[in-house]
Amino acid sequence: MHQVKIKNSEATYSVGKIIGLGRNYLDHIRELGNKVPDRPVIFCKPASSLLPDGGTIKIPDYSSNCHHELELALLVGKTGKHIQAENALSYLAGYAVALDLTLRDVQDQQKNKGLPWEIAKGFDTSCPISEFTAAAKVSDPNNLQLQLKVNGEIRQQGNTAQMMRSVEEIIAEISTFFTLESGDIILTGTPAGVSRIIAGDQLEGTIEKVGSLQVSVA
Ligand code: MG
Repeated sequence: MHQVKIKNSEATYSVGKIIGLGRNYLDHIRELGNKVPDRPVIFCKPASSLLPDGGTIKIPDYSSNCHHELELALLVGKTGKHIQAENALSYLAGYAVALDLTLRDVQDQQKNKGLPWEIAKGFDTSCPISEFTAAAKVSDPNNLQLQLKVNGEIRQQGNTAQMMRSVEEIIAEISTFFTLESGDIILTGTPAGVSRIIAGDQLEGTIEKVGSLQVSVA
């Protein structure tokens, strides 16, 4: 069982599913040469992909191109289905800094064959995540600066205001497909600047009002 915590509280959550949103920032869609989707691109990562703050990323030997994707993570706090955007924020227990690590070479092979992406997105350690900050402490999740440094150099920078779908819209849309349950985590997509990480790299992600995450690559 994989647990996550809310900072400065006794609250812990057993993680259920981790749902990722692809192509939610226009500048990132453009850098990968993808089409702008009319529906969000949705995929899942297993709970076994989680890596706590301070952990070590292990890139699988079947890839030679692992990319970082810095993302705002949402922690679901109660059960909901067909959630209305107007009340969507009331379903959240917290926010965290996460990385949606992606084996870009493997993902491209899978895409070209029309196959699912899980082996590129769901490997062990592919979801580094910080402690969660209580949802009540973040008044507007749609206006937060994000930044990722690798070995002290800025690689990704953006603001959640650049998301094509707001946090409320993401929750509403995902809940039309899946019942959201306490302990589920949603990854909201990445801004531009994704690039390769290699052995020995030190990664530091920060999101305004949410916190920071530090991990290294084995
Ligand atoms: Mg992503």
